[in-house]
Amino acid sequence: MRALLPGHGASRGSALGRARVRLPHVLDVVEQHIRPGQIDDEVGRLHAAVDATRGEMRTLRARLHGALAKEVGEFLDLHALLLDDPELLHGLDELIRTGRYTADYALRLQRDRLAAVFDGMDDAYLKSRMDDLDHVIGRIHAHLHQRAPDAPAVAGEILVSDNVAPSELAQLQTQGVVAVVTAAGSTLSHSAILARSLHLPLVVGTAQALQRINDGDVLLVDGATGEVVVDPDPDDLRRYRERLRDAAREARELGRLRSKPSRTRDGVDIALWANAESLEDVANAHALGAAGVGLYRTEFLFLQQRELPSEDQQFQVYRDLVLGMGGRPVTIRTLDLGADKADRAGLVAGDEENPALGVRGVRLSLAHPGVFDTQLRAILRASNYGPVRVLVPMVSGREEMLDVRRRLQRAALQLRKQGHEIAVQLELGAMIEVPAAAIALHGFVDIVDFVSIGTNDLVQYLLAADRNNEALGELYSPLHPGVLRLLRHVIRTGAEHDIPVAMCGEIAGDATLAPMLLALGLREFSLHPATLLEVRRAIRDVDLGDLQARTEKLLQARDRAGIERWLKAATAG
Ligand code: PEP
Ligand code: MG
Repeated sequence: MRALLPGHGASRGSALGRARVRLPHVLDVVEQHIRPGQIDDEVGRLHAAVDATRGEMRTLRARLHGALAKEVGEFLDLHALLLDDPELLHGLDELIRTGRYTADYALRLQRDRLAAVFDGMDDAYLKSRMDDLDHVIGRIHAHLHQRAPDAPAVAGEILVSDNVAPSELAQLQTQGVVAVVTAAGSTLSHSAILARSLHLPLVVGTAQALQRINDGDVLLVDGATGEVVVDPDPDDLRRYRERLRDAAREARELGRLRSKPSRTRDGVDIALWANAESLEDVANAHALGAAGVGLYRTEFLFLQQRELPSEDQQFQVYRDLVLGMGGRPVTIRTLDLGADKADRAGLVAGDEENPALGVRGVRLSLAHPGVFDTQLRAILRASNYGPVRVLVPMVSGREEMLDVRRRLQRAALQLRKQGHEIAVQLELGAMIEVPAAAIALHGFVDIVDFVSIGTNDLVQYLLAADRNNEALGELYSPLHPGVLRLLRHVIRTGAEHDIPVAMCGEIAGDATLAPMLLALGLREFSLHPATLLEVRRAIRDVDLGDLQARTEKLLQARDRAGIERWLKAATAG
C-alpha cells in the first residue's frame, strides 16, 4: 500500500527502483567455546578471514577510477588501517586463546567492547568511526563464513539502510544503485557531501525507513525534498515522469548559461566563486566560469590519515588545485578541525565538554604552531603556481588575525631564505562565523584583505542552534531577522572600508535566497559548482536597483514569515 515517508534531502535527483534493504549489522552469534586443541586452528581461521578482507579492500581500491578515486580511496584506506589495528586484532587473538571462544563470538565480544568505549565518548566524529568499525567487522564475519559480505545490489536498486559509509558510495554507484535512503545521518555529513559530488540521490533521516520498507518494494525517492514514496500510485509516477522531463529541460536551459556573465538585468556583475571539495569540482568550477575557488577546506586532508600530512604532501595538493584553476585565484582555508571534525592524528582533544565552542579552527592552529607553520609553508609554496589567497576559519577578532599575519610573514621570509620562489604578496582573509567577529569587524578590517561569511556556523552560533541537530527543525535557519541584520552589518562594514565581502556558507548556493542576499548588499558568492548555474540564472533575473529599493522593507521583517513574504514579492517582480 502507498506510504509517504518523510526524510531530509541530502543529495538532489529523483529515482525510481526496487528497495534493497540492508538491516543494521548485528553480529547475531551465541557464546560458543572451543577445545584447547582447536585454538590454533581457530586463530588461523580468523587470520585467514582478516587476510581475505584485506585482499577484498585492495581489489575494491584498485577498481576505483575517475576524479573521486582519491577521496573514496582514502575512506577505503581508513578501513584497511582499522583491519591492522593492534587493539582489534590482539584483542581477538587473546579472546580465542584465553577465553577459548569461537572466532565469531570473539569478534562479537570485541565489537561490543569497542562500541561501549565509543558510546561513552559523546563525540560525533568518533561515533562515525564506530560505523566504519562495524563495517570492517561485518566484512571479516562474512569471510569467516566464506560468503560475500553484502549481496551486491543489482543495477536499478535503491539501497535502504540505517546509514551509509562514504567509502561505500562510489562502489554502490558503480553497481548501478540509483539512490540511497538512510534512517539516520545528516545532510552535512561526509557521506552527504560525497553523494552530492557523485550526483547520487540521497535521503537521510528517514526515521521509518527500516520499519516500513521491505526488500523488493518499489520506491520513489526525491533527493531534493527528502520524500520517499513506497509503492507509488499512478499519480506519483506521473509526477515523477514530469519531474524527469522538467529536470532535463532545466539542465538544457541552465547549460546555455555556462558562458554567460553573472550579471543582473541592470548590468551589475556579481562574482561567483566555487566551493571545491575535489579536483572534479575544480574542473567544473573552471568550466562554468567561476571567478576562482572561494573555499577549499583543507581539514579533509587531515581527517583520513593517522599521520599529519607533511609539508610536501600538502604542497602537492594545493599546487594541483591552483594549477586546476588555470590562473584564477584559489582561496585555501587553513585547518578548521574541531567541533564535529576530529583528525586521526589526535590534534583535536576528544574530551571537550562543548567542542563547538572549544578549540576549533584558528584556535587549534595557534595552539599547534608547528602544524600551522607547516601548512602555511605548503600554501605559500603553492603560490608560485598561480594566485592563492589564505582564509582563516573561526576568527574571533584582531589578536588572532595579527598572530596569523605575523606567522605568514615569518614563514614567507624563511622560505625565501631557503631558496623557494613564492608570490610577492598573498591576500589574507578572515571567515566571519563567530558573531562577535561579525559585530566587531571594524576592529580588524584594517589587517585583512577580504572576508568570507561562513553562514553555516554564523547561524548556529547566533541562534544557539546546532547545525547538525535535525531535531531543531526550522530553528536553525538563516531566515531570521537577527541573522539578516548581522549579515547587512558585515557587508556594510566591508564596503565602508573597501574590503571585499564574500559568503561561502551553504545559503550562498541556494538560488531562491539570491535576491535576499543581493538586497543585503552581497556581491560575491562562493558555492558548490553543482548550483552555480542556478544562482547565475537567479542573478540574471533580478534588477539590482529594484532590490535595493526594497532592502529597508526586508530589514523590517519581524519573523520568518515576513522574510518569506518579502522573498515572494521580490521574485514576483
Ligand atoms: C561555514 O561555516 O559557513 C563554512 C563555510 O564552513 P564549514 O561549513 O566548513 O564550517
Ligand atoms: Mg564554518
